[in-house]
Amino acid sequence: LIEARDVRKTYRKASVALNVLRGVDLCVYEGEMISIVGQSGSGKSTLLHLLGTLDAPDEGQILYRGQRVDNAPRSARDRLRNAELGMIFQAYHLLPELTALENVLAPAMVRHGVFAYWSRRQALRARATELLERVGLGSRMLHKPRELSGGEMQRTAIARALMNEPRLLLADEPTGNLDRSTGEGVIELLRGLNLDDGLTVVMVTHDAAIAAAADRQVTLVEGRVETTGTPDRRRQA
Ligand code: ATP
Ligand code: MG
Repeated sequence: LIEARDVRKTYRKASVALNVLRGVDLCVYEGEMISIVGQSGSGKSTLLHLLGTLDAPDEGQILYRGQRVDNAPRSARDRLRNAELGMIFQAYHLLPELTALENVLAPAMVRHGVFAYWSRRQALRARATELLERVGLGSRMLHKPRELSGGEMQRTAIARALMNEPRLLLADEPTGNLDRSTGEGVIELLRGLNLDDGLTVVMVTHDAAIAAAADRQVTLVEGRVETTGTPDRRRQA
């Protein structure tokens, strides 16, 4: 579904060049749930941003359904992100002036445009409400981000990422701020969407138990992908 081919990324600050990704090859098949692990600073978030076309690699390619997207025009990348991708950022990036419910609805507004959104607002609000309930925030819908705990902001970001029914979810530490049982609940939710709706999930995690719950683990070491398991364990099971 999504593929990185010999992707390289260097950050330059002052006269220092940081070679974060040094030739990453990764192919994620449709219907897979994979985890990306690696030390802090190994480039996991960088790789996820590149897969999500939020940033472009210095060299190499990103392909979505076999089509190059890293150098696609901005409008094509926006369409891809609105219609196909869901992203959960490590720092959440919730809009501070909006309530949890409005934050979850925001991608639908962007995707449909104001008029189409308005005509479907009841169905969309029902979906946003249901998503917030599924992540355990049924009673926090009118809270603004500063009125939410860290784990609640994280779960709001998860609901928002699912709002537009993405085909691919890119999740940066989706359970990073959650206790074990809440985190397991989120992973169960993602696994359910993966099995029932065929949602492909790429998640970055520091939690070994959560990484092991994926079909396949990918480790970033010194700017390259070091180990991958066999694809499709779930299909064989
Ligand atoms: P963590 O597990 O701590 O989230 P990570 O694997 O996600 O780490 P990245 O966020 O991808 O790591 O960052 C990789 C390296 O690149 C880090 O050393 C970081 O300091 C550096 N870096 C990230 N973004 C930038 C940037 N915009 N400009 C310069 N350096 C950056
Ligand atoms: Mg990171």
